[in-house]
Amino acid sequence: METLHNDEDAAPVGVQEAAVSTGSLPAPADVQGLLAATHERYQQDRRGAVADYIPALAAADPDLFGLSLAAVDGAVHSVGDATVEFSIQSISKAFLFALVDSELGHETVRQAVGVNNTGLPFDSVMAIELNAGRPMNAMVNAGAIATTGLVPGSTGDERWVFILDGLSAFAGRDLHVDAEVYRSETASNGRNRSIAGLLRSYGSLAADPHETVDLYTRQCSVKVTAEDLAVMGATLAHGGVNPRTGQRVVEPSVCRDTLAALAASGLYERSGDWLYEIGMPGKSGVSGGLVTISPGKGALGSFSPPLDPAGNSVRGQRAAHYLSSALGLNLFASRPLASGDASSG
Ligand code: GLN
Repeated sequence: METLHNDEDAAPVGVQEAAVSTGSLPAPADVQGLLAATHERYQQDRRGAVADYIPALAAADPDLFGLSLAAVDGAVHSVGDATVEFSIQSISKAFLFALVDSELGHETVRQAVGVNNTGLPFDSVMAIELNAGRPMNAMVNAGAIATTGLVPGSTGDERWVFILDGLSAFAGRDLHVDAEVYRSETASNGRNRSIAGLLRSYGSLAADPHETVDLYTRQCSVKVTAEDLAVMGATLAHGGVNPRTGQRVVEPSVCRDTLAALAASGLYERSGDWLYEIGMPGKSGVSGGLVTISPGKGALGSFSPPLDPAGNSVRGQRAAHYLSSALGLNLFASRPLASGDASSG
């Protein structure tokens, strides 16, 4: 497939020049209008393929396309299939990392899991071998399994409650497992079981491999909507306080750690391209979800099942690219002070 990123996805030059990453989001009516225009712009893009290595995901409707933006003030703007539920898959990795970082701290998760990109696909076994048995980062399967192995609790049930309650706190509502996806993935996750066994043999997995893969599989099967992803991301954009419920879920330092880990590895081996085009931390999942976080402003959640070869939603990436420039979200965008703005100090 040809590259997804092209000039068509950038907002018009006049809009881009105005759009630096300081200040706040445009007025709510403008945000809603831009979301609707973005949805219309990419609805007809039929490139990419729905994931089929987990049998239950193969049945996804490729036409579904939802976009939602949650602002840190609690406003939520949505368009299209933004309230259709799907399994969160790899996007859970971002929030699990935050929950475990919150329990164990900045340095412990760095030592135990790591924060560098593997440069290899999300389910790579080779990455473990090439790095002396280290899982490398929490956004690929090996690192996510290692992170799940650090979840506190004296029984599997206690650890599951920690995970589900934590993900629900990020979403601001009670989330539930998609039983069919869980069954289907359990019956087909030999690769993840191998990864867990290999990590354990290197001393890189702190808990029982069988139980840990089961918890990881359940966590990937939790149902969310594009709107939930937007709120979950906006919680990370808002210093750890859920803008929908007002609940503090994690500390601001945990948000910083998580967003840094996402910037490095949230789109697997495509994370550099993603950062180059979109300029924000994001996390994708194989069921077609994508969350893109704008610190201090809010987050975009999207759902569209067809994926690029790395496993990232095609429409989701294009929508994030367009909205990054149209809404002024790219963290690397700046402009020189106008004359007279500079302080004399
Ligand atoms: N549950 C999926 C897996 O382990 C998640 C992968 C993903 O979304 N990239 O393979």
